[in-house]
Amino acid sequence: MKKSDSEFEIIIVGSGPAGLSAAAVAAELDAKIAIIDDNPIVGGQLIKQTHKFFGSKSHFCGVRGIDIAKILEKRIQHPNITLLLDASVVGYYEDNILGVLQKERFIKLYAPKIIFATGAAENLIAFPNNDLPGVYGAGAVQTLMNVHGVLPGKRALMVGSGNIGLIVSYQMMQAGIEVVALIEILDKIGGYNVHAAKLRRLGVPILTSHTIKYATGKDFVTGAVIARVNKKFKPIKGTDKRLRVDMICLAVGLTPLSELLYQAGCEVIYIPELGGNVAWHSENMETLKNGIFVAGDASGIEEASTAMLEGRIAGACAFESLHGKNPKAQEIIQEAKKELREIRQGPFGTKPRIGKEKLQTIAP
Ligand SMILES: Cc1cc2nc3c(=O)[nH]c(=O)nc-3n(C[C@H](O)[C@H](O)[C@H](O)COP(=O)(O)OP(=O)(O)OC[C@H]3O[C@@H](n4cnc5c(N)ncnc54)[C@H](O)[C@@H]3O)c2cc1C
Repeated sequence: MKKSDSEFEIIIVGSGPAGLSAAAVAAELDAKIAIIDDNPIVGGQLIKQTHKFFGSKSHFCGVRGIDIAKILEKRIQHPNITLLLDASVVGYYEDNILGVLQKERFIKLYAPKIIFATGAAENLIAFPNNDLPGVYGAGAVQTLMNVHGVLPGKRALMVGSGNIGLIVSYQMMQAGIEVVALIEILDKIGGYNVHAAKLRRLGVPILTSHTIKYATGKDFVTGAVIARVNKKFKPIKGTDKRLRVDMICLAVGLTPLSELLYQAGCEVIYIPELGGNVAWHSENMETLKNGIFVAGDASGIEEASTAMLEGRIAGACAFESLHGKNPKAQEIIQEAKKELREIRQGPFGTKPRIGKEKLQTIAP
């Protein structure tokens, strides 16, 4: 492949809030962009979020995730943007060449700058029988219910009381699933009280200091055994409770998707506060590998508002790294950085703020 053949200046992998925001900014600044996503529609996680978003007021707080996806989609209707959907980036090759599988077709694409906005994968936990059909990640449950209109079960145990566990429990009830219990290993609820209160009003028991010991069933889930835990998170004898459920939903965190960044030769570092292994990146979202940027959950698990801001920074910085300093780009970058700092001052911003600060203290 001859690099001079490339029609794109920036390729963005992932069309979630980070990728779409990066594309909108860079296209507006007049760069030629390709966005690649393995889904048939744009929006990333947003396409299954039927709830009204929490977060900052200036970033669609109170708007449903699915509607935010539509707003962002409008922003990328730009002649400078080419969209490749149903297309998976399956490999990064030397000199910024991406291998892309789109249905039956394999193509190679090159651009001098690449922004990886690939999002995150769901965490699972180890317990006997966790491989039975009926054990799901919360994101998979949302995809089945809210994207495909498929009910994953009738009676559910939810594991994890962060905002995702609380919100998906409520959405399961809206879809007609009985949430038999929500358990949390810590001694307090992780997510917003407003979401927990909605579940309590509907009679869902929220059991803190509890864990799942094992699932029961032979061909599929028929139940779960839960137990209270001690301060060392070990199950306390004599506290086992057997629940009759046909699905177990795990909402136990996310891990940044960094595989392609590894392949690209970026320096990948384990930062627990960012959810796992992330490519080292500067405040301009640039990695140590020349021409490679990262944004959104792939750079550390946070939320849609921060993903959009990081996307804007990555888009504007990728543009500047091609065309030199630009006053409009500088305005976008400085404004987005300021908003990021403000969001990370909030109670749910503490962990990512510590994670990002840690990253900056590790000298490249
Ligand atoms: C249940 C739930 C509720 C949430 N509620 C809120 C909320 O109320 N407020 C809030 O601010 N945030 C919320 N979030 C978080 C928010 O959705 C994410 O932080 C945000 O979507 C991250 O954006 P992103 O662009 O980084 O990644 P994503 O939205 O995950 O998008 C990444 C995209 O990249 C694609 N992709 C990945 N790898 C490849 C590849 N190799 N080739 C092609 N495409 C690829 C993926 O398929 C996906 O479409 C919630 C998350 C969940 C799961």
